[in-house]
Amino acid sequence: MSDWLKGIQIVIIIVRETDAIGMPPRSSSGTCLLCKAGIGRIAMPRHSLECLKKSGWPESDAPSFVIRVEDFHSKMFWLLVLARNDATLSDLDSLLRDVWVECCGHLSAFTIYGRRFSSHSDYDGFDEDDESGLSVPLDEVIGPDSTFTYEYDFGSTTKLRLSVVGLSPVTPKSRSLILIARNNRLEIPCYFCKGKGEYLVTDWPDEPYQIVVCRDCTRKNVEDLEPECMMVFPNSPRAGVCGYVEEPNTAIRWYPPGWHPGDIYPAESEEVLDEIMNNDEDDAYTPIDEDT
Ligand SMILES: [Zn+2]
Ligand SMILES: [Zn+2]
Ligand SMILES: [Zn+2]
Repeated sequence: MSDWLKGIQIVIIIVRETDAIGMPPRSSSGTCLLCKAGIGRIAMPRHSLECLKKSGWPESDAPSFVIRVEDFHSKMFWLLVLARNDATLSDLDSLLRDVWVECCGHLSAFTIYGRRFSSHSDYDGFDEDDESGLSVPLDEVIGPDSTFTYEYDFGSTTKLRLSVVGLSPVTPKSRSLILIARNNRLEIPCYFCKGKGEYLVTDWPDEPYQIVVCRDCTRKNVEDLEPECMMVFPNSPRAGVCGYVEEPNTAIRWYPPGWHPGDIYPAESEEVLDEIMNNDEDDAYTPIDEDT
C-alpha cells in the first residue's frame, strides 16, 4: 500500500514540477463537452451555465446541480457534472467510478456535513448506526453552496472534493447525471528527455519507482520495462494507484451525445506501446540451449 501511495505522490510531484518550471497552466485547462470549447477550470462553471441554456435540453422547475469534482490534493484533475435534483449519491458514485476511479470494486463513501454515506451500508449485514447507504437523492443532502468529499478504496484511498458551483434549470436528457466538462489530458515531461511524456511506468526498478516516459525513451529502456506496468498516462487522479487502468468505453456512457471513446483516449498511443512491448518480447526470445 505504501508503495502505491509513494507512487501517486511522485506523480503529483512530477505534475507540480511541470507547473513550477513556468509552463502555461495547461494542467487546469479543460473542454466543454457541449460545445467543445477549451476553457480553464475557474471559468468553466460560468461558461457551462451559459452553454446549457443553448443546449436545447429539457428544463425543469426544480433546478439541477452543477457539481465540480476535483482531486482533493491537486487541481489538475477536475470534472463538471450536471445532476438532476433527484439524482442519488449512488448515481454519482457510479459516474465517479466509471469516469475516474474504478479498479477492483473497492468500497466508497461520501462525507456530507459530517454524515457518512457508504457503498457498503447497502449490503445486508453491515450495520453501522452512523452510516447511511447511497440511495439518497442529492436534494435531500446538498444545497446551492455545498462542499463535500468522496473516498474510493479505504486502503490506497483516492479522495475527491465536490462543490456545487451553480444551479441550472436545464436537466440532463433521459438520465439523472451527465458529464459536461473535464480537464484536458495532462502534459507531463518525460522523466529522461523532458519530451512529451506519454506513458506511466508504475514499477520502475529504481527510485522514483513511478515515472512518465515518452515513446522514444520507452523504446530505449524497453529491457527494463514490464508490459503489465506500462500504460497510457491515465486522465484520472487514480493514475498509478492499485490496478487502475483508464477505461474510455466505460467513461463515455456519461458523456453528452456525439462523443466516442476515440475522442477521449489516445488509442494510437496504446497501439504504439503494444508494438514496442511486443517487439521486445520477440527480440528477447533467443533459444539459449541450442548448443548445450
Ligand atoms: Zn460550451
Ligand atoms: Zn484496486
Ligand atoms: Zn523521453
